Amino acid sequence: MSFQIAIDGPAGAGKSTIARRVSETLGFIYVDTGAMYRAMGLYFLARGIDTDDESAINASLPGADISLQILDGSQHVFLNGEDVSVRVRTEEAGMMASKTSRYAKNREKMVAMQQEIARTSNVVMDGRDIGTVVLPDAPLKIYLTASVSVRAQRRYQELLHKGQHPVLQEIEKDIEARDYQDMHREASPLRQAADAILIDSSSLTIDEVAARIVELAQDRMA
Ligand code: C5P
Repeated sequence: MSFQIAIDGPAGAGKSTIARRVSETLGFIYVDTGAMYRAMGLYFLARGIDTDDESAINASLPGADISLQILDGSQHVFLNGEDVSVRVRTEEAGMMASKTSRYAKNREKMVAMQQEIARTSNVVMDGRDIGTVVLPDAPLKIYLTASVSVRAQRRYQELLHKGQHPVLQEIEKDIEARDYQDMHREASPLRQAADAILIDSSSLTIDEVAARIVELAQDRMA
């Protein structure tokens, strides 16, 4: 039997950094489900598909082959054979993902892949619907959040370090728009599962949050 840790929460709460840290400590596989929706976003973008046109989105789904591979210890995401791990990190890919992840058919395709990975491996999986839809029976569910201003500030620093010239107000606006889209869509909206543990990371360090999750996991595995 595999053990699963589901981590959900809004954009910029630190899910991926923390999930990666926890997976390394426990020797679990880290599955970044956002990267899968982002790769789909790149696919729709490359095909010039209107994000409001659900039937065009649905018709194009079979042409997108998404896969995950662990290379040198980190997750790489492939779109039709091309490694798009770097390209999926752009704001544009994130926004495309958020606009198109609301479609049920797109979600079905991603969820089936995610469930298959978790069936056979111990995983730390992060996303928006992991505890509610993908792994409803996960023995440990975390809902990780932080205030909008803290999340925007973190993203701003991250982009600065990458040599970009971000505008803080724009990042805040983007975060608010994505929160709204993710929480108000019909298909699998972002929400805390009834049995998820809420962690607000606004005034905690990455190490503190990761240590807390590892401790919870070790308790539940014992
Ligand atoms: O987590 P990340 O910012 O990479 O996710 C990008 C977008 O993909 C989110 O804004 C959300 O719309 C979508 N997503 C989702 N379900 C998941 C993971 C991501 O709908 N499990």
